[in-house]
Amino acid sequence: MSYELNVAHLYGNLMNTYGDVGNILALNYYAKQMDVHLNVDIVSLEEDFHAADYDLAFFGGGQDFEQTIVSQDIQTKKAELTKFIESGGPLLAICGGFQLLGHYYIGADGEKLPGIGALDHYTLAQDHKRFIGDIVIKNQETGETYHGFENHQGRTFLGAGERPLGNVVSGKGNNGEDGTEGAIYKNVYCSYFHGPILTRNGEIAKHLLVAALKRKFPEDDFSQQEALPIPATF
Ligand code: GLN
Repeated sequence: MSYELNVAHLYGNLMNTYGDVGNILALNYYAKQMDVHLNVDIVSLEEDFHAADYDLAFFGGGQDFEQTIVSQDIQTKKAELTKFIESGGPLLAICGGFQLLGHYYIGADGEKLPGIGALDHYTLAQDHKRFIGDIVIKNQETGETYHGFENHQGRTFLGAGERPLGNVVSGKGNNGEDGTEGAIYKNVYCSYFHGPILTRNGEIAKHLLVAALKRKFPEDDFSQQEALPIPATF
């Protein structure tokens, strides 16, 4: 039997730093092997996001300029995005997207941009500095190691109910201080990793797709999809 999943690419025409759109290509690559067809819509400025229409969502990174625009518009989607997240909707958010799911992001010029507060983190600025370079983290629960490239000025601090995506092995991570990188809340995965994250860390693509399948088709058995081998990228 083949399955269909509807994917919302949030602000895909604005939030796409360092080829983050490659995450959609990687999702498609793994979905095909699972006999899953993805219908991908860009949901952007002045468009409605209805939680019930989507099975999976992706929100990429952005420059401060785009984030200023998105920070305003996303307030109109706050209720439905929160509903999607709270009901276990799988969502991947990278860098600027990660920041705007939290309470606020302070840009390089000191401007405070509101997020939607669906997740309990906040992001401070740093003084004329950015965290740039290769990064390696380890997820304590699965034992998986993830590889990526980070480039952000924001310093994010996790809140209640959020676990880090991983602990920093090398690189800076969320804030360069507490050794955490990214966040996991329900079926939401956040990270500062570009690369794009899913092309280098197929396990995360698999977690997202399997979570979406289980949520949409609760009667079915997805152990075969869960057992899908992830090709080594290193
Ligand atoms: N503009 C944000 C920052 O500098 C996010 C960057 C990004 O998405 N790559 O922290």
